[in-house]
Amino acid sequence: MQPTVLKFGGTSVHDDAALLRLANIVRSQLEDLPVVVVSAMRGVTDALLTGTRLAREGHAGRGFEAVEAQISRYSAVAAALLPEEAAGAVDDLVARAALEISDLLRIISLHPGTFLPLQDEIVSYGERLSASLVAEVLRSRDIPGVAVDARRCIVTSEEHTQAAPLPGPTDESTRAALLPLLESRQVPVLGGFIGSSTSGATTTLGRGGSDYTAALVGAAVDSREIQIWTDVTGFLTADPRVASNARPIDRLSYAEAAELALSGAKVLHPKTIQPAVERAIPVRVCNSHFPTEPGTRIDAESIPSPLAVKAIAHKPGITIVQVISTRMLGAHGFLRALFEVFDRNRTAVDVVSTSEVSVSLSVEDARSLPTIVEELRTLGTVRVESGYAIISVVGEGLQSTPGIPARVFGAISDLEIALISQGASDINLTCVIREEVVNDAVRRLHDTFFGG
Ligand code: ADP
Ligand code: ASP
Ligand code: MG
Repeated sequence: MQPTVLKFGGTSVHDDAALLRLANIVRSQLEDLPVVVVSAMRGVTDALLTGTRLAREGHAGRGFEAVEAQISRYSAVAAALLPEEAAGAVDDLVARAALEISDLLRIISLHPGTFLPLQDEIVSYGERLSASLVAEVLRSRDIPGVAVDARRCIVTSEEHTQAAPLPGPTDESTRAALLPLLESRQVPVLGGFIGSSTSGATTTLGRGGSDYTAALVGAAVDSREIQIWTDVTGFLTADPRVASNARPIDRLSYAEAAELALSGAKVLHPKTIQPAVERAIPVRVCNSHFPTEPGTRIDAESIPSPLAVKAIAHKPGITIVQVISTRMLGAHGFLRALFEVFDRNRTAVDVVSTSEVSVSLSVEDARSLPTIVEELRTLGTVRVESGYAIISVVGEGLQSTPGIPARVFGAISDLEIALISQGASDINLTCVIREEVVNDAVRRLHDTFFGG
């Protein structure tokens, strides 16, 4: 038995028309044993987070208003698409969710210290309601959908908001929950992004984490393909919101897709590739508005393009940390001590550049920076500057293709480049530049490599 995982993102479940498209896509693959993974409707996770923040600031009532306006969309879509009884069942679920969320918000406003675990609990309602609604919509279209609580499948660490899935228990629980349904030709529908810790608390996998769930589920059931259905026709040559002439890419290797995702191509959560690589499962990124378009296929094969460059990715919101120390001169153990500081504080470093007396690093997650800076002061003078962006040119064989750096630096020669990284792998050239010029830089590099 080789199922297929189909993941539908926030815009692919956000209204009645989107849900009808979803049902048609699932129907067209019924022979391939679909497992459906869904996100919250677009905007719902943001509203749930806003509600939690307001409650934490002491405004539980206002927080609930922000939430209620959004989760009522599930009832509205159910009323538009479902027979009366099924619509009533969804309505009951939404009403119960509203009551429970309201209680949780009140607890947060009274005990702000409880906020993180309760935030994950509150946020999980978005994906849980999506799964229930989508299963009902499928059944109303004669497709045997069954909602499965993803917290029974994805077993994680206790790190709220950024939980790490535990591979062994996740595989086991996912198979136990899904295989009997698939054997009886039912279509499991589960929410992405959410899991539960070994102690039973609700956890989440980080923003955009439904893609990651799809890959974890795909690996657990040894699926033939993991399909990511979204609002663009696959990976494009750049972020289409920045380069309006960006065009779809037919094929990417796992390494290229992972590099692009890590460098900010939001179309795929960066952790999605790992479970797929481990079981050699192809990933396909498709457009739910144009289901017959092939989208982008991602697998182990590396197909160098004549240009070497496949795409340009960028990520704003980057902070540069610089440590200057004469102790570095000829000393060993300095870099290890420096990286241990970031490691202890669970902060990932993206780009690193060193000189004889200083090290500069870029980080995205600035939450632990106050502690990190404090600890780094024992190593030297520390400077921190926010407001940067990463920009990466990605493609297999890039480093061995002559002339690429000259073309990259030629296109952005007038911009100040704070950090450069090339040579760590053969597939990317990465710079860190000021955030306010990054969109312009993306457009210029796109024109350079893909024409205007
Ligand atoms: P979903 O809700 O389906 O998960 P996301 O909003 O997370 O969708 O991801 C899709 C969005 O990613 C696109 O609408 C696009 O704006 C953005 N994006 C950024 N870089 C790229 C890229 N290189 N190719 C395609 N989309 C990209
Ligand atoms: N709903 C979650 C988010 O908005 C997860 C996802 O959409 O992948 O981040
Ligand atoms: Mg996404």
